[in-house]
Amino acid sequence: MDFDLSEEQRLLKDSVDGLLADSYDFDQRKKYAKENGGWSKTVWNKLAEQGLLGLPFSEADGGFGAGAVETALVMESLGKALVLEPYLATVVLGGGFLRHGGSAEQKAAHIPSIIDGSKTLAFAQLEKNSRYDLADVTTTAKKKGSGWVIDGEKFVVLHGETADTLIVSARTKGNRRDHSGIGVFLVPANAKGVTVKGYPTQDGMRAADIRFEGVEVGADAVIGDPENGLPLIERVVDEARIAMCAEAVGAMDESLKSTVEYLKTRKQFGVAIGQFQTLQHRAADMFVALEQARSMSIFATMASDFEDAKERSKAVAAAKVQIGKSLKFVGQQAIQLHGGVGMTMELKIGHYFKRLTMIESTFGDTDYHLRRVSEAGNLV
Ligand SMILES: Cc1cc2nc3c(=O)[nH]c(=O)nc-3n(C[C@H](O)[C@H](O)[C@H](O)COP(=O)(O)OP(=O)(O)OC[C@H]3O[C@@H](n4cnc5c(N)ncnc54)[C@H](O)[C@@H]3O)c2cc1C
Repeated sequence: MDFDLSEEQRLLKDSVDGLLADSYDFDQRKKYAKENGGWSKTVWNKLAEQGLLGLPFSEADGGFGAGAVETALVMESLGKALVLEPYLATVVLGGGFLRHGGSAEQKAAHIPSIIDGSKTLAFAQLEKNSRYDLADVTTTAKKKGSGWVIDGEKFVVLHGETADTLIVSARTKGNRRDHSGIGVFLVPANAKGVTVKGYPTQDGMRAADIRFEGVEVGADAVIGDPENGLPLIERVVDEARIAMCAEAVGAMDESLKSTVEYLKTRKQFGVAIGQFQTLQHRAADMFVALEQARSMSIFATMASDFEDAKERSKAVAAAKVQIGKSLKFVGQQAIQLHGGVGMTMELKIGHYFKRLTMIESTFGDTDYHLRRVSEAGNLV
């Protein structure tokens, strides 16, 4: 199988890496994190100018009609630079719902403003006791006239604080954890009855807890079938997991590079510590873990287009397991090999580990996905 990038894909990767090399060193990142909402509008506009916010959308919708490989390339670069901007929340998650489930009117209303960078989105899914179960939804959407009234509370909504539009999973029928009776709704963040409480997360990003109290939306707020939204949610969340696998590969790659650099420069007992064989072995083990993660990330990216949802989910779960194992090993070794200075916030290395740790626990941790793989059986 040929895993080489096409000429266009290579150019795309070079252009994202180039942009981030100019605008995203560690000091700049610290400044962006302090900006309103925890990310830089200037950088976001640059991503828009390069067409990156429009990549996965069809040409008919004003995008570039790129696929999962291109999204993975961008995410890997964003992971390398530890980017704080809401690409995952807006383009991958928000954009995913619109691409796969949006009506022509919904696409026309939202996609152009995603592409030009003027609006951001967030997916309000997690509830207090739902853990990783996407079907565990107690937020309700009740019919009122031709529209809906939404009540409930969502937690740790990634970039929910700055999003203009929220995509909310809500129960239209049945009981908690029923697979049917879940709808997906587009809700303006400034709608009456929406309360957003933002806060920083461990990895330097920002999230929000969001309360919906009698929030009225029109019939045009529903994405797809109001009683059968779960397959759409699973598809979009799988795509987000795939994107995060690529982001993790980028963050691990950079963690390994920084560590090898440190081993070559930090002197102890009169020599660079990288001269000690035991440390070389550790760096080699990190490289193996990274390559295992990279292979599974590529596997998951290819699975994005699988017709069979079960096959897709199984591949994605398997990738998330390997990524989870690799990121823990690479992250911990990176800090250990940096010695005491690896524990300080002044050095970038710990921040990579923080982001990697958050990726591990987002949309299912390693144990959760290991269970899914074992339940699905017959990986290959
Ligand atoms: C801000 C700060 C505050 C601190 N406060 C304290 C404190 O209050 N009390 C305290 O006790 N310590 C403290 N420390 C820790 C201590 O100063 C050192 O950081 C710690 O002993 C590790 O040494 P190092 O950072 O120089 O690591 P390095 O010597 O740079 O080693 C880096 C890595 O290489 C490994 N290594 C080095 N040589 C070899 C070898 N020959 N074979 C195998 N592995 C090797 C080390 O185990 C480590 O994993 C602090 C550190 C920092 C940064």
